Amino acid sequence: GEVSATAFSGRDWQEHLFNELGRFAPREAVLDTAAWEDVELREFLRLRLDCRCELGREEDFAPDRAMETARKQFRTGLEDLPGEAEAAVRACGGLLIYLYETQKTDLSHLTAFRYYTGGEFMELDLTARRNLELTETMRGKEKKGSLLWVLDKTKTPMGGRMLRSWLERPLLSVTDIDRRSSAVAALVDDTIRREELIAGMTGLGDMERLIGRIVYGTAGGRDLTSLRAAMEKLPNLKEQLSGFSDRRLTELTAELDTLDDISGDIAAAICDEPPFSVREGSIIRDGFNEEVDRLRHILKSGKGVMAEMEAKEKEKTGIRTLKIGYNKVFGYYIEVSNAFKEQVPETYIRKQTLVNGERFITQELKDLEHEILTASERVVALEYELFSALRQQIADNAGRIQKTAAAVAECDALCSFASVAVHNNFCRPEVDESGVIEIREGRHPVVEKVLKDSLFVPNDTFMGEKEERVAIITGPNMAGKSTYMRQVALIVLMAQMGSFVPAKYAHIGVVDRIFTRIGASDDLSAGQSTFMVEMTEVSDILHQATKNSLLILDEIGRGTSTFDGMAIARAVLEYCADKKTLGAKTLFATHYHELTEMENTLPGTVNYNIAVKRRGEDIIFLRKIIPGGADRSYGIEVAKLAGLPEKVVQRAKVILKELEDENGVQYVAARKETDQVSLDAM
Ligand code: ATP
Repeated sequence: GEVSATAFSGRDWQEHLFNELGRFAPREAVLDTAAWEDVELREFLRLRLDCRCELGREEDFAPDRAMETARKQFRTGLEDLPGEAEAAVRACGGLLIYLYETQKTDLSHLTAFRYYTGGEFMELDLTARRNLELTETMRGKEKKGSLLWVLDKTKTPMGGRMLRSWLERPLLSVTDIDRRSSAVAALVDDTIRREELIAGMTGLGDMERLIGRIVYGTAGGRDLTSLRAAMEKLPNLKEQLSGFSDRRLTELTAELDTLDDISGDIAAAICDEPPFSVREGSIIRDGFNEEVDRLRHILKSGKGVMAEMEAKEKEKTGIRTLKIGYNKVFGYYIEVSNAFKEQVPETYIRKQTLVNGERFITQELKDLEHEILTASERVVALEYELFSALRQQIADNAGRIQKTAAAVAECDALCSFASVAVHNNFCRPEVDESGVIEIREGRHPVVEKVLKDSLFVPNDTFMGEKEERVAIITGPNMAGKSTYMRQVALIVLMAQMGSFVPAKYAHIGVVDRIFTRIGASDDLSAGQSTFMVEMTEVSDILHQATKNSLLILDEIGRGTSTFDGMAIARAVLEYCADKKTLGAKTLFATHYHELTEMENTLPGTVNYNIAVKRRGEDIIFLRKIIPGGADRSYGIEVAKLAGLPEKVVQRAKVILKELEDENGVQYVAARKETDQVSLDAM
C-alpha cells in the first residue's frame, strides 16, 4: 500500500531517473506517450531491468484528469508540494487510472501519497550496486556472498524488505544516520531485551502482504488467522520496546499499535483452523453467531430434530403411534394409524392413505424439512457473509495495520543490524560532515565470512580532505587490492545505512555518492568492446562525481596498449586528484608502477601497496596495506601459483628479462628502503 513518487529535472535528469529505476527494478512500467517515445528509456527498462513497458492513454495523463484522480484517491501527502512535484502527481494519477482498469478491485488501501526528492538518500548507480555486490553476487546473482547476506538476520518478511531498502538507499543526513545508529547501539547494549525482541518477532507473519490481500478481498480464513497470530505477538513486542530510552525506539513503541481490538474480533469470529476455501463454511467459530449455531445444530442432528418434533406432536395430539417418516415422493410426513384417525388435528394435511393408516404433512413439518435440506447451503452463505463483513471491517483499519507493520519492520531491521554487529564484532562509526575517512583495522564484511582456511587480515585507511585524498595502490595480482578498495566502499556505505561497521574504529565523513570502476564490466549493450565500456564508465564517473564523492577505480586503462593505457590512467588520476577539476576521494589500483611517481608531484596523492614476502621463487601474500609503491607485479609468480605449465612460466621469465634489457627499463625496480623495512617487519 505504499505510494512514493519523485520527479527529476535539470541536466542530469536521465541519469537520476535510470538510477532510481534501477533501484526499484520494476516488473512493469506504464509510460505516457513522451516517455514511450524515448527509445533509450524503453531499452533501459526492457533490456537492463527486464521490465515490461505499457503505453498509458494520453488522456489519463492529462494534467487535470490525472490531478483530479490523485486528489480523489489520496487522503494525505498532496498538500504543500513543490512545483516540480506536479509531474509526479500526474504520473501517479495516470497510473491510478491504469490500475482501476486493470486490477478491477478496490484500491482504498492506497491512501497516502509520499513525495520524495533527491538529497535524502545516496544515489547508487547499477554499476556500483553490482560491483559492490550489495544484494546479489556479480557472478551467480545469488544473495549468498552479498552484503545483504551478511547483514540480513531479520525475522519477518517486512523486516527483510525494510533492511533491503536501507541497503539500497544509504542516507546522506548525519542526523538521520545517527538516529538509526543510536537505535542500533541501544539494541547492541541491551542483549537481553534485544534477544527478547528477536524471539518475539520470530515467525511473525507478513502483515503487509496479509493486509494487502484483505483490502483486495482475496484473503481467506487462514489469512485472518495468520494476521491474528501476528497481532497477538504485538503486545509483547511493545512491552520489550518500551524498555528502551533511545529516541527512535521510543517513537517506534508509540507507532506500534497492539491492535487488540482487531485480533480480538478475529479470534471471536474465526475458528482456529479454518479451511482453505471461504465458500465451504466451517470458518466461523461456534458461539459467535446464533443463526450459524442453529443451522449447524440442524445439520448435525437432522434426525434428532425430527425425533424432537415427533415427540412434541405425540404429546400435543395424544396419538401414541404417531411417527415421522421420510420418502422420496413427498419428503417428511407424519403417519397416524387408523385407530387414532379421529384425533388428527385440523392443521394436518392428508397426503396418502394406506391400508392401516394415513400420512400427513403440516406447515411446521415442511418448514423444518426445508431448514434441514437447505441448512448446509444457508450456513455456508451466512458464514461467508459474516466473514466478508469482518474482512471489510479489518480493511477499514488498513492504515493502522500498515503503520504497525512498518514499525515492526523497522524494529526487525534494527535488531538485525544490532545482532550482526554483536556477532561479527562491528563497531559504531562516528559519522559527520568532516570529509575524512578514517578506518582502523577495517575488514571486508563478506570476504571475512567466506574465508575458510585463513584469517582475514584487517587494514587501516586514511583519506583526508586535503592530505591523502587519493591513494594509488599497487601490488601483485591476487594481493588483495580489489578486496581492500571494496572494503572501504562497503564500510562507508554501511556507516551511511546506520549500521555498525567491520572495524576497530571508524570515522566516516558522509560521501554524496560512491562510484566504482572495477574489473570485468557489465554486459551493457552488446556491440561495445570491453575497453569502450570501461571508458564509458570512467567518463560517466568523471562527469557525475563531485569533490564529496568516493571513487573506486581499479586498473583503469588496462584494456588497451600499455602506453595508451598508462597515459589514460595518469590523466584520469590527475583529474581526480586536482581540486580544480574534481578533487574527490579516490582509491586507484594500478599495475602501472610508473604512476607511483605522482606522489611527489601531485598534491593529495599517496602511495600504498599490499605487502608480499618473497621466499626463493615463490611469494607469500601478507594482505597488509603499507605505505609506498610496490616494487613489481609478480605476475609470473602468480601465474605459476595458478598452475600455468612450468615451461610457460620459465619462458615468460626469459622474455621478461629480454624485454627489460632491450628497453633499458628495469621492470623489477629496486626496492625502496622503507618498503624493505616494513616488509621484513611483517
Ligand atoms: P588482481 O590484481 O589480480 O585483481 P587483487 O590484488 O585485486 O588481484 P583480490 O581479488 O582483492 O586481489 O584478492 C584476492 C584474494 O585474496 C581474495 O579472494 C581473498 O580471498 C584474499 N584476500 C584479500 N584480502 C584479504 C585480507 N585482507 N585478508 C585475507 N585474505 C584476503
